[in-house]
This record gives sequence, structure tokens and C-alpha cells, in this order.
Amino acid sequence: MINGERLISRPMRWAMVGGGRTGQVGYKHRTGALRDGNYQLVAGAFDLDAERGRDFGVNLGVAAERCYADYKALIAGETTREDGVDVVSIATPNFTHYEITKACLEAGLHVICEKPLFFTVAECDEVARLAEQKGLIVGVTYGFTGHPLVHQMAAMVKKGMLGDIRIVDLQYTHGFNAGDDVDAGEAVKWRTNPRTAGPTFVLGDIGTHLYYLSEVVLPHMKVERLLCDRKAFIPTRAPLEDHATVLMHYDNGARGRLWVSSVNAGNMGSQRYRFVGSKASLEWSDSHPDQLIYEVQGEPGRILHHGMPYLEQESLAIDRMGALHTEGLGDSWSNIYLWIAQAIDAANRGDRVFLKTHHYPGITAGTEGVRWLENCVRSADADAAWVDFA
Ligand code: NAD
Repeated sequence: MINGERLISRPMRWAMVGGGRTGQVGYKHRTGALRDGNYQLVAGAFDLDAERGRDFGVNLGVAAERCYADYKALIAGETTREDGVDVVSIATPNFTHYEITKACLEAGLHVICEKPLFFTVAECDEVARLAEQKGLIVGVTYGFTGHPLVHQMAAMVKKGMLGDIRIVDLQYTHGFNAGDDVDAGEAVKWRTNPRTAGPTFVLGDIGTHLYYLSEVVLPHMKVERLLCDRKAFIPTRAPLEDHATVLMHYDNGARGRLWVSSVNAGNMGSQRYRFVGSKASLEWSDSHPDQLIYEVQGEPGRILHHGMPYLEQESLAIDRMGALHTEGLGDSWSNIYLWIAQAIDAANRGDRVFLKTHHYPGITAGTEGVRWLENCVRSADADAAWVDFA
């Protein structure tokens, strides 16, 4: 069980780029990072609007002189201070991730970046080499994979409790973009423009969460071929998609089906994962993250609850609230930030042995997400043809 006790040598001096007053995801970062005292928010370039960013930062308790106008000023200011930051989180629109990550690494700073990590696998590979050369960590905030029951699913699959995995059924949908974008806010505008969003809209925005979580649960399975059919129901979003279905063939013969959509009008189900094996199935949704449905063929269905002693050690070890009390998205983000802090701490100590087995969403997870997107786009652009996973 995680109880806030310190698990690293010293708290990280932490800065944020983006995640300002009007940003959607910034508070999730702060919820995750500040929970256990593993990070101290001491600097930031929080906003495109420098004045609003400074005002916001000061209200968060950051010294005014460490609220910078942009990330370049932040790097310049912080790297000349004795007590400069160790790590920078990037919570800005997709098109800025690559340039800011690279600049931070070049300046010797660890990075925690939003997904989708970058636009291309080539960019990911280049940044992975740079991080390796510098001995720095790049964490990626796949914020849903810190839920204890996600790791319960992984442990049950690993123990063979489902038998051979046959079907992977993934869905992340909502209806927030069912209407047109005439009066859309900034967060929709940049998401629906290929220059700022990258090669995809919903596939990268929400589909990469599905893909990474399925990799955590099924690390032994790899996608061999896929078919992606994508469409913009609101034509102004083309060539990007607001809806897509992806069929996947895995190397063990399993079949996958993934649906992402932001035009599923009225739907508030968010994410649903179903893993079907030859003996039993598991189903989990982030709408009810405390509960895991476990169905064994020929037996009554069961609902497993987080924090209960009948769960696997892998799940109990990362539970925070204990059974009977709600455990949710904030707890999941706290685990992600803790795991990344442990990775940074190990990198600072040069502890390669720890890093070899330590689980956290890092540059490889970010790269695999981008690789999956590249394959989806290649298939979709070939009129939804089957493509070998490259
Ligand atoms: P947003 O448009 O709501 O907010 C972006 C924030 O970044 C704003 O505060 C803006 O002022 C600031 N900003 C923009 N460019 C900047 C720059 N160059 N320097 C400094 N600040 C800058 O966007 P959002 O929805 O918060 O998404 C941001 C990123 O987070 C995206 O990559 C998105 O895919 C990702 N995201 C991830 C999750 C998750 O669950 N992990 C959830 C939502 C968004």
C-alpha cells in the first residue's frame, strides 16, 4: 500500500510548461505530482499568455521571478541557478512536445511529457537517443494506468487465470465534439488542426490511452497487422478524424477491436476494456475504477473490489485508499508521478539495475503509442487496408 512515505532520495525540484489556468490537463499533473511530496513546484512557464501565466503561478505558490514568459526563458533561468529545477512537465498542445522536450534534455533536465508524445517515430527515436546519452528520463503521462485494478488485470493474465487471450475489446468514446466547431474553444481548435494536433485527432487524443493500457495488461502480445477506418463526421476536421475503428491481429492469434470517438452523442462511458481468454474474461472501465468484472466460463460472474486482500500483490502494493473507500483518477496519476520520480531518482544515482525492472510509462511507451498511430494512419489513408505493423 502506498501511504505517502518518501521512496526517493530527495524531492524533485519541478517546473511545468503549459497546464495554465485555462488548460484542461494541468491540474491532473499537479494532483499527481504534489500528492506525496516527491515534487516541489518551484518554476513554470504555465501559459501562452505570459502575464496570466505569472499570475497563475504566483497563486500556486511559485515565486514571481520563477514564473517565466516561455520555456526558453525557463530553461535559461533555471539552469543558471544552484537550486534550479530537476524536471519539467510538458502539458501543452501536441505540436510543441518535441521541441520543448528536446530543449529540456539538451539543458540536462528530465522531462515528463503529455501524450501523444511526438508526431513521428523518427522524432521519438532521436529523443530516446538524446535521453540515453544524457542519462535522463522521459516519462509519459498515460494517467489511467496507475489504477490498482489495471495491475490486477495484468497479474491475472500473467498467472494464466484467463487462459490464452483470444479477444481484446477496447473503447474510449464521448460525445463532446458531436456538434460543429464554430464556437469551439482553443483546446478543440488545436486538436482538430493537423499542424497543431499531428496526424490524428481522436486516435492520438484518446486512442493512445487504450493502446498503452492494453500493452500494460498484455505485455507478452504484439500487434502484427491492423486495419484502421477513420472518418470526420464534422467535415471541417478532415483530414483528421473524430471517429475511428481499428481491427488488430496479435502475434498469438488473438483478435482486437478498438473504437474511439468524440461524436458518440450523449455517451459518458469514457473507457471500457474487455480481455477475453479461453477460460475467463476481465472487464474494467475507468467510470468504475474500483471494480473489476471477472467472469469464469460456467460460473456466476464476480466483481472484484480494489484494496481487498483477495487481490494480487501487484495491485495491493499500489493501492492508496484501502478497500471500502473510493480510489480514483487522482490516485492513478499519483502512482504515475511516483513511478517516474523513482525512475529519475535512480537515473540521478546511476542505478541501472533498478531502471531495468522498474515499471513506469517512459520513452518506449511514448514511442510505441506514436508507432501505433503511424500504422493506423497508413492503413486509413490506404482506404482502410490491412497493413503489417511496422
Ligand atoms: P489546453 O489547450 O486545454 O491547455 C494548454 C495549456 O498550455 C494552456 O494553459 C496554454 O496556455 C498552454 N500553452 C500552450 N502553448 C504553450 C507554450 N508554448 N508554452 C507554455 N504554455 C503553453 O490543452 P490540454 O487539453 O490541457 O492538453 C495539453 C496536452 O495534454 C495535450 O498534449 C493533450 O493531448 C494532453 N492531455 C492529456 C490527458 C491525459 O489524460 N494524459 C488529458 C488531456 C490532455
